[in-house]
Amino acid sequence: MERVRDLSELPKAHLHLHFTGSMRPGTVLELADKYGVRLPDALTDALTSGEPPKLRATDERGWFRFQRLYDAARSCLREPEDIRRLVREAAEEDLRDGSGWLEIQVDPTSYAPRLGGLIPALEIILDAVETTSRETGLGMRVLVAANRMKHPLDARTLARLAVRYADRGVVGFGLSNDERRGLARDFDRAFHIAREGGLLSAPHGGELAGPASVRDCLDDLHAGRIGHGVRAAEDPRLLKRLADRGVTCEVCPASNVALGVYEKPEDVPLRTFFEAGVPMALGADDPLLFGSRLAAQYEIARHHHGFTDAELAELARQSVRGSAAPEEVRKRLLAGVDDWLARPAA
Ligand SMILES: [Zn+2]
Repeated sequence: MERVRDLSELPKAHLHLHFTGSMRPGTVLELADKYGVRLPDALTDALTSGEPPKLRATDERGWFRFQRLYDAARSCLREPEDIRRLVREAAEEDLRDGSGWLEIQVDPTSYAPRLGGLIPALEIILDAVETTSRETGLGMRVLVAANRMKHPLDARTLARLAVRYADRGVVGFGLSNDERRGLARDFDRAFHIAREGGLLSAPHGGELAGPASVRDCLDDLHAGRIGHGVRAAEDPRLLKRLADRGVTCEVCPASNVALGVYEKPEDVPLRTFFEAGVPMALGADDPLLFGSRLAAQYEIARHHHGFTDAELAELARQSVRGSAAPEEVRKRLLAGVDDWLARPAA
């Protein structure tokens, strides 16, 4: 067997992780029990087996089913202590996987009804992130994400709120949910507010929809980073544009396979991106539902795409460079990547 280094010791930044989707399966089951929530069988089966539910999110029904499972899991988060637990466990899991910086993505609107409104919900989340970061030593920040299925005016409200909390841990503004609904352009005002307020524009694109959706993120939302973006692989000119501008794509291989964006791990265009010079930050997206966390994404690059340790180290560097981490954290993580590579393979 070939001697390789331990990928859970490779320092990296985790830039694509959704709030509810970050939960440990056992925690969801425990909370469901605590609150008497009846989870859909497909979710309970997935959480107890560790096998991702069979979802074909490439059609709208499949995506709807995925959202239903996600919503059921989210409905188990009811009190501030649940939020604090989620954040702490997400940090613990990330640290175990070698993450040195985590940007977690959340739409506080989803938690507002149970936590006393939009502002209290965001404050509870940001407090939890701040406390956890201090206690665990993992650098953590928040991306506030608007929901594409809602009205663009809601996105504007969220963008203003996100900007107001920029000095309390919000570093970016995202846009999630079904890319096939509406146009990126409908959300341009919200993203304008976010960018004016100094936040990074990081919308989802090029996952369920093709290269045009990535172009829309660049043209209409001035994306500095793209959630997924993998479908850009179908358009060499677009790849060149992403590479020239150094737009990092938050690529989530296990998620892509679980949602049917690609049939097999080896179909995810990691090599295409790497060879084209498009920076990537591998991410777990929703480990709760997809059954694998951060280091596992690098394992996919190693085992299904033949990435050498030197190439994996470069992927880790790309994740750090694509992050909103302050300079001293970036330096420390990049030095850690060099140390990892300098170590003899075990
Ligand atoms: Zn996502």
